[in-house]
Amino acid sequence: MNYKRSSSLFAEAEKVIPGGVNSPVRAFKAVGGTPIFVKEAKGAYLYDEDGNRLIDYINSWGPMILGHAYAPVVNAVVEKAKKGTSFGMPTEIETKIAELAVSMVPNIDKIRFVNSGTEACMSAVRLARGFTGKDKIIKFAGCYHGHSDSFLIQAGSGAITFGTPNSPGVTEGTAKDTLLARYNDIENVRQLIEANHGEIACIIIEPVAGNMGCIPPKDDFLQALRVLCDTHHILLIFDEVMTGFRLAKGGAQELFGIAADIVCFGKVIGGGLPVGAFAARNEIMNYLAPLGPVYQAGTLSGNPLAMAAGLTMLSELNNDAEIFNRLAEKTAYLHNGIAKVLHDNKIVHTINRVGSMISVHFDGSEVIDFETSAKGNNDTFKTFFHGMLNEGVYIAPSAFETWFITDALTYEDLDFTIAAVNSVAKSL
Ligand code: PMP
Repeated sequence: MNYKRSSSLFAEAEKVIPGGVNSPVRAFKAVGGTPIFVKEAKGAYLYDEDGNRLIDYINSWGPMILGHAYAPVVNAVVEKAKKGTSFGMPTEIETKIAELAVSMVPNIDKIRFVNSGTEACMSAVRLARGFTGKDKIIKFAGCYHGHSDSFLIQAGSGAITFGTPNSPGVTEGTAKDTLLARYNDIENVRQLIEANHGEIACIIIEPVAGNMGCIPPKDDFLQALRVLCDTHHILLIFDEVMTGFRLAKGGAQELFGIAADIVCFGKVIGGGLPVGAFAARNEIMNYLAPLGPVYQAGTLSGNPLAMAAGLTMLSELNNDAEIFNRLAEKTAYLHNGIAKVLHDNKIVHTINRVGSMISVHFDGSEVIDFETSAKGNNDTFKTFFHGMLNEGVYIAPSAFETWFITDALTYEDLDFTIAAVNSVAKSL
C-alpha cells in the first residue's frame, strides 16, 4: 500500500503539534512507520488520505460499536446542531440520556456527564475521597484510567507501599497517595489494605482490563475485591470506560453480577462525540456540588451534540436484544479463526477475549497481569501489525491495546481478516 500523502501530512503536523498527534499512541512509536491519516470512515471501514481502504479494529478506541458514521447517530447530531451547539444551561436531552443510562446500568441512581473518560475517573476518585474522608487510592499496574495525575503511576521497586511518579510533572505528593496492586492478585490487594489501614478511599479497576491487552478478571477476583471493600469501608470504582455499554447493557457489573459503588463511563456512551460520565447510588452522588461539598463542573458538560449522539447510541443498544450476543459471537469467530491459523503456522501466542474485546499476545504463557502481558514479543507484534496493515487490516499500533469488534463487521470481513493473518503468519 502507498502512504505518500499520510507521510507528507504527518511531516506537516509534526511542525505544529508535538509528535504530530493529539494523543501519543496515534504516532506509531511502538511499531515504527508513519501514522495513517484518515479521510473518512463508514461502517467497518476506514478510508485514508491515500485512497486505501482498511478494515478497522480500533474504532476510535471503542466508541464506534455500531460502526463508523452510523446514520441514526449522524442524523441526531446534525439535527441538534441546527438548533445551537452549546448553551451552558440545562436541556431536556440531558435528563433523557441520564434516565436511559440509569435504567440500563445496575446499582446507579444518578449520573453526571463530563467530556472524557479521564474526567470521569478523576472526578470519581475525588468523589470517593470526599465521601469517605480518606486520601489514598489503590489502582492496578497496567490499568489506565486517563491522564489525570493520580493515575500516571506505574509499578516499580517499592511500589507495593508507595507509588513513584512515572511521568515528570506528577508530584511525589500525588504519587504517594496512589498504591499499586497486581491485577488478579487479591492477596496483594489485601496486603496493601492492611499496610495502609484506615487510609484507603477507593479501589479503581478496569473490571476487564483493556489497556495491557485484554485481560479478564480471574474467577471470583472482582467478588473478592467487593468483599474487601465492604469490610474496610473502601469504595469500589469500576472504570467501565471501555466495558460500559459494550460487554452488556449494564456493562461489567451486569456481566459478572458484581455491584460497584461508583461507575465511570466514556467511549460508547458518547457515540463518538466527547462524552464521559460517572454514576453511583444517591447517597454518594448527593455528595456532589451543588447538593454536596465535592466540586466538579464543566463549560461543555452535557453538550447538546454530544448528548444527542450518546442518547441515540444508547437507545439503539437498548432496543436491540441481540446486539451483545451478536458481537460476542463475531468476536469468538475471529478468535477461533486467528487461533487456528497461528497454531497451524506454529506461532507461539495467547489470545484473550471477553465479549467484543480481544487481543493477541505473542507469548505462550497465560496473560493475567501487566508482567505477563509485558512478556509478549514486541518484534513479532511489530511485524504482525505492519503485515496486517499491508493486507488492509488496521489493528491498534501497540501490543498493549485491545481490538474492538463492531456490529458493522460482516463474517466476510472476519474471514478476510483471518486470511490476512494467515498471509502474515508466514513472515512471523
Ligand atoms: N479509562 C479507561 C479504561 C480507558 O480505556 C480510557 C481511554 N482509553 C480512559 C479511562 C480515559 O478516557 P479518555 O481518553 O476519554 O480520557
